[in-house]
Amino acid sequence: MTYERKNISAMQGYVSGEQPQGPDVIKLNTNENPYPAGPAVARALANVSVDQLRRYPPPTALALRRSLAALHDVAVDNLLVTNGGDELLRLLLATFVEPTPDHSIAVADPSYSLYEVLAAAHGCGLHRIPLQDDWTLPADFGARLNACGAKLCFVVNPHAPSGTLLPVDVLRRVADEFKGVLVIDEAYVDFIDPALGHSTLPLIATHDNVAILRTFSKGYSLAGLRMAYGIGPRNLIDPMQYKTKDSYNTDLIAQALAQAAIEDQPYAADTWRRVREERGHLREALAALGLHAPASQSNFLLATVPAPHQAQRLYEGLKQKGILVRWFRIPGLEDKLRISIGTPEEDQRLLAGLRELLATPQ
Ligand SMILES: *Cc1c(COP(=O)(O)O)cnc(C)c1O
Repeated sequence: MTYERKNISAMQGYVSGEQPQGPDVIKLNTNENPYPAGPAVARALANVSVDQLRRYPPPTALALRRSLAALHDVAVDNLLVTNGGDELLRLLLATFVEPTPDHSIAVADPSYSLYEVLAAAHGCGLHRIPLQDDWTLPADFGARLNACGAKLCFVVNPHAPSGTLLPVDVLRRVADEFKGVLVIDEAYVDFIDPALGHSTLPLIATHDNVAILRTFSKGYSLAGLRMAYGIGPRNLIDPMQYKTKDSYNTDLIAQALAQAAIEDQPYAADTWRRVREERGHLREALAALGLHAPASQSNFLLATVPAPHQAQRLYEGLKQKGILVRWFRIPGLEDKLRISIGTPEEDQRLLAGLRELLATPQ
């Protein structure tokens, strides 16, 4: 006997990248930062006492929001702290999209597969709008969002899984045109080359339909902590902050550690710089092996394998060598491997593994 709602029993769950526990595994499959969080975060953790946990945490993470407001030069009321980016995505659906199939969201396809899983669990409809071959949005993207009647659209930028970056102008035009809520998922924003001067933050002052997702999971090396935040105009932030989120959605320890991480920008920024440097090296080294990846502004590369059906073999061969990368059994991605940028040492082992596998006849 199933007691599930119809849409739940019909849906498939999200398949996350493997999370092996062994110390010897080289984990280049879930885009974690290869460097740990810094000493300020370690000190904040050491300073947590059991006695503090007797009380409920600050319900809207006010101290952390103050630090974030100072960092981004936005008001505290433009910020909502959530239990990972995944909670923010869920809140956006719960708050802005009716849970019936005749109300729908739209996603650029391919992108983060969790969007579709959350839409299915919510019970709303879903439209996929295919990206162009170079991973950019089709010119009529905004018009198509309106034509399909989407109430909300998720666009991930830098894009996952390709790592490519859409300029702010393109997103502004979509926001101008779209009649629903445009969510810009910036999970990988910290890895953008600062020389590009990319910032979508001005959009939240000019558009009442734009919300931005940021997370501590990638840039701040805290995927295990489950902390993220939304930035947006108050008409989008307030209903989530005061109505739909759990009253104590993030815990005291997570708030303290996240705040310590935010307040030590130089440490985090140094990990981003190292990832960017290594990203260039790894992209060139992969190309020399015949695995070409588009220029990435994130902490991973999406490399096309030399022969179309090789990707699964390489993925499995690497796995046997204790090197995990991501392979998607999805049309359009089946000939590609998504490889997180590791430390230079990890990436050397990856390259050695690939060299061996490519030299071995299938
Ligand atoms: C990692 C990621 C997120 C957020 O992840 P959390 O760990 O839940 O904060 C959101 N979107 C994309 C595309 C991601 O890769």
